[in-house]
Amino acid sequence: MLSFYPGPSKVYPQSLKFIQEAYIQGIVSINHRSERFEVLLKETLESLHQKWNIPEDYTIYFISSATEAWEIVAQSLIIKNPLHLYNGAFGKKWAYYTKQIVSNGKELAFSKEESIKDYISNGPIILLDNIDTLCLVQSETSNGTGQKICRNDFGNKDDLIIAVDATSSMGGIELDWIQADIWLASVQKCMGIPAGLGVLICSPKALKRAEYLGRVDHYNSILLMEENRKLYQTHYTPNVLGIYLLNRLSQTLPNIKEIDQQTKVKMSILEDFWTHKNPYELSFLIQNSEVRLSTVLALEGRSDQISKIQQLCKKNDIELGKGYGEWKENTLRIANFPSHTIEDIETLIHLLK
Ligand SMILES: *Cc1c(COP(=O)(O)O)cnc(C)c1O
Repeated sequence: MLSFYPGPSKVYPQSLKFIQEAYIQGIVSINHRSERFEVLLKETLESLHQKWNIPEDYTIYFISSATEAWEIVAQSLIIKNPLHLYNGAFGKKWAYYTKQIVSNGKELAFSKEESIKDYISNGPIILLDNIDTLCLVQSETSNGTGQKICRNDFGNKDDLIIAVDATSSMGGIELDWIQADIWLASVQKCMGIPAGLGVLICSPKALKRAEYLGRVDHYNSILLMEENRKLYQTHYTPNVLGIYLLNRLSQTLPNIKEIDQQTKVKMSILEDFWTHKNPYELSFLIQNSEVRLSTVLALEGRSDQISKIQQLCKKNDIELGKGYGEWKENTLRIANFPSHTIEDIETLIHLLK
């Protein structure tokens, strides 16, 4: 099967070899306080720093999922005034969960055709003075929008923490890490391995905020995670196989700069097909190409056409993403993750022609 579902999605084929390796070498049975684990974690963190060009002073933590990361942000970092800005279902869900933890959480929804920057400068007047934590979605997987994150758009305030959900882009495009304090993601999207592992990346400013708040009443408090990280351990028994796969893959994959270029090339092949061939009369759900995410393409059309495409693909052992939430019936989504090769995309295009 070839999956273009926007997560879980196609797993890198070389993962199979690495899974066998992990089994044969007994990696799948090691304890997370053992020396072998410490070596593995140290190496993996260094490799990710290097391949993704993450600043030295930003720290990486392994957790269980992006959803867990949302909760960690609310419990470890928000003082009491968060603001969520979103234009789709994942951003909305994140705001909902924050509200269950922080009672006066605020949220604002903007148009899917608009960039956050334009919304901030042309939309309603947003008073950021009281806001201590901004929660933004870089990759809104539900509708295929992508945002450029920039501290200056929010006044670059010293006491403002910016947390960004980059779940369906981290590992697939270059992210400008210094523009935010928290970056969160899951591995089953652009990292191309089976689900069950989340990645949380923190700036020194985020760690300072966590120290200032001093909250250690949760097993996944950033402070406890940091204490463990310094020993190259984790705060709970992690998905060691997932960490091993990330380790081995990051050693073999090119730098994120190169992956970013490949992502854009593949997306332009897809966009070109739907612009010029388009046998099913679908249109881009996101008309404004400036805010179109390069790792997930959402297409809109008549529901009978959408289901025709879905059925054709299913018959040929190809899986596409269904529409999400309010776009369930009349959209479909195609993941363009690094595990998807140009040949994979050509296979899909050939079938749809
Ligand atoms: C998939 C996704 C999530 C949730 O990821 P889990 O691994 O299920 O926690 C959150 N945000 C975005 C933008 C996503 O695409």
